[in-house]
Parts: sequence; C-alpha cells; structure tokens
Amino acid sequence: MKIELPEKVKTVIGELKAHGYDAYAVGGCIRDSILGRTPGDWDITTSAKPQQVKAIFPRTVDTGIQHGTVTVLMDKEGFEVTTYRIDGEYEDARHPKDVIFTSNLLEDLKRRDFTINAMAYNDETGLVDAFDGIADLKAKRIRCVGEPTERFTEDALRMMRAVRFAAQLGFTIEDATRQAICDMAENLSKISAERIQVELVKLVTSDHPEEMKTIYDTGIAAVILPEFCTMMETEQHNPHHIYTVGVHTIRSMQEIRADRVLRLTMLFHDVAKPVCRTEDENGIHHFHGHPEVGAEMARKILRRLKFDNDTIRKVTALIRAHDDRPPLKGRAVRRAIFRNGTEQYPELFEVKRADILAQSSFLQQEKLLYVDRYEHMYRQIIEKHQCLSLKDLAVNGSDLIARGIQPGKEIGVILHAMLEQVLEDPKLNEKEALLDWYFNSNK
Ligand code: ATP
Ligand code: MG
Repeated sequence: MKIELPEKVKTVIGELKAHGYDAYAVGGCIRDSILGRTPGDWDITTSAKPQQVKAIFPRTVDTGIQHGTVTVLMDKEGFEVTTYRIDGEYEDARHPKDVIFTSNLLEDLKRRDFTINAMAYNDETGLVDAFDGIADLKAKRIRCVGEPTERFTEDALRMMRAVRFAAQLGFTIEDATRQAICDMAENLSKISAERIQVELVKLVTSDHPEEMKTIYDTGIAAVILPEFCTMMETEQHNPHHIYTVGVHTIRSMQEIRADRVLRLTMLFHDVAKPVCRTEDENGIHHFHGHPEVGAEMARKILRRLKFDNDTIRKVTALIRAHDDRPPLKGRAVRRAIFRNGTEQYPELFEVKRADILAQSSFLQQEKLLYVDRYEHMYRQIIEKHQCLSLKDLAVNGSDLIARGIQPGKEIGVILHAMLEQVLEDPKLNEKEALLDWYFNSNK
C-alpha cells in the first residue's frame, strides 16, 4: 500500500533517516489517509531520542518532552515527533508512572489504543500493520490492540475514544471491546473533566451524534453525564412527541449542523424536562419552565465538564430561548430579539427547526412555517437596522448626564424605558425626540 505523505513529512522522516534513525508517520494520519479522509495532523514516531531530534532540526518546541514529544517546525507548520515508547506500569488509570524509551516500532504500536490507530508508514518500509488495522478499517470496526480490559485499565479515556471514533467514522465497536467498556465504564470517574470534554465534543460534532446512544447503553453516561440517563428514561406523553426526551434529543442533534455550540445546545436543550414534567387530568405531560431551568442545569454540567465561559454563555442563552415563540408582529419580534439577546440570532432559528424536526408530525408543517415567518421578519428588521438593544439606541448615558441626570443606576433605568419605546415604534429612535419624550413625560 502506498500512502501519499506531504512533502514536509517526507522531509522530517528523510532527515531523521539520514542521521541513522528510524522514522514513520503513525496513528490517525495513516488511518485517515487509507480512508481517504484528510488527516488533521501528521504525527511521526522515531527511534531518535528527543535531544537527538532537537539536534537535527533547527526549529523545535518542547511540547511534551517528558513523554518524548518534540514539535518540529517546518515553515509555519508543526509536526509532533515522538520517540518510540512503551508505557511502564500504570500507577492509576490516568498517567504512566514512567515512560521507557525503546528502540522498537512494534512496542510503540502495541501501546496505541485501537488497531486502526496502530499503523505506521514510511516510503521505504511501506505500511506496518501488525494488528490487522487494515482488516478492521475494511470491516468498519473499532477494536482494541490486545486485551480490551487491560487497555482500558491503562487508560480509561480510551473507552470514550472508542465511541468517539465510531461516531466520527461511522464504525461499530467490536464485541469484546464493547463488552469491556460496559464492564469498566466506572473507571472513567478517574479521568479529568478536561480530557472527557475533548472526546465528548468530538463525538457530538461528528457525523454520527446518535452514538450518544452508545454512551448511554454502555454505562459511560452514568459516569460522565447522569443527566443524559434520566433523559433517556423520561417518556413524553404529549401529542407533539413520539420519543423519550433522550431519543428526541439525539434526533435533534442529527437535525442540526455539526457546530460545537449548536450540537451542545441540542444535547442539553431539554435537560430539565425530567424535573419539570407534570401530568394533567388527561394524562398528558407538560414541561412548563424547562428552558429556564434547563439553561441553569446546562450551566452546571458545562462547568463541571470545564467548558470555557464563552461556550457556556452561548449554549445556555440558546437553551433559555429555544421555546420562545413571540406573536409575529413587528413589536413582539423586536422585543423577543431583545429579550433573547441579539447574539443568539440567527442560530436560534436553526435550533428551533432541529427541535421541531425531532418532534412528532403533529402540526409539524405549521410549526416550521412559523419559524420561516419569524426568520423572515427577523431578516427585515435587521435589513432596516432597527434598534434592538441599548447599543443601537440613539441616546446614551452621556446624553442623559449632559441633561442633568446624576450618574448611577437611574441612567440605566431611563435608557431601558427609552428602549422599550423604540422596540414598540422604531421611528422613535431619534435623540432629541427620545429626550423630549422622557423629560416631558417626567416633568
Ligand atoms: P484525531 O487527531 O483525528 O482526533 P487521532 O487518531 O490522530 O485522531 P490523537 O488523539 O491525535 O488521535 O492521537 C494520535 C494517535 O496517538 C492515535 O491515533 C493513537 O495511535 C495514539 N493515542 C492517542 N491517544 C491515545 C490513548 N489514550 N491511548 C493509546 N493511544 C493513544
Ligand atoms: Mg491526531
């Protein structure tokens, strides 16, 4: 098998070889090349020790020198060059106690997670596939290198990686590997939230977010996201729904583009339905208040998973707004945009459509038509540059101070009163008119 290595990768490997070392492109880049996918990065594995790598290349960065990794810079591009290694005894399920450098490619490949990730290639030797990675690629199978329970004991995160690769590649997890995940999911409690977050994001932004079902079925969710288990186990007896909260959630993720914030929003948009559920005298379930309660639950979950504040802010705002349905009148739509925050638009329409598409067919066309009309009105309002927030208001704090209002809380109160007027009637967004209105009505 011939793999087309990028010129710079050939150069790095060529230089290492010219100095008497062994070197291969390895792991994800080989897997992706064989699959015809564009590799995210090209990793290189070599017999050269980090100091020896640094001696060869003029520009290097010590990215993980304690793990044997040096980044070699070629122009602006960086390539991680890692010395062959086998992991020593594991102290816990997280970190190798010591990493012993070996001069053996096979030992290096043996410590990789899955057979499809354990192949190496250079032009001279060709493909090194000691664990039948090619066969598993053909069978679209995620399989551990060696004994799954052992491998998951060494690093529990590999269980999430298995599901994440299944989701990215559209593969299935081989039986013994899957069984080991079911048996050992509990070990994920030892893994840092940061590492779990990385894999969860890759999974939810993949082509197959429905693999969240596997996260539930294997017991991973019970450890990293118990709220999702509750969703999977909550029925919705309501004409608008045909699925449990969890299955509706998964369907809604499939209905939205693979954007990080949007997929996370769909994952958590109904997280509060289980706690907000009530049943009326006809046995119909209602979920009053679930967007607000859900936004707060999502905030806690996202914090726990160590998401950044910007992501948390965007996701929770979309969750809070996802069920907001203003009457389709100019003033009501402008108020809604102000209420939900201009920053949530136009993404909010994508959220609403995905949510509807994952519901029952009851009134579905009507609901979609409503969103179309809402969006149409939104676009017109934007085109006309109508005022939608304090920053668009023709009056600001200094204008009020110039008119003798004391700096302080009152300024905000007045500006909001003016904004209320302008949301009602955009023509009023004119400095003198607004000031006159205020000072005349408050004489
Ligand atoms: P991508 O970069 O597309 O997410 P990848 O396969 O390149 O996928 P990385 O996390 O970049 O994944 O890791 C590069 C390679 O290192 C993997 O292909 C695998 O061989 C090895 N590897 C990474 N993480 C682990 C792990 N936790 N346990 C064992 N091997 C791992
Ligand atoms: Mg990679």
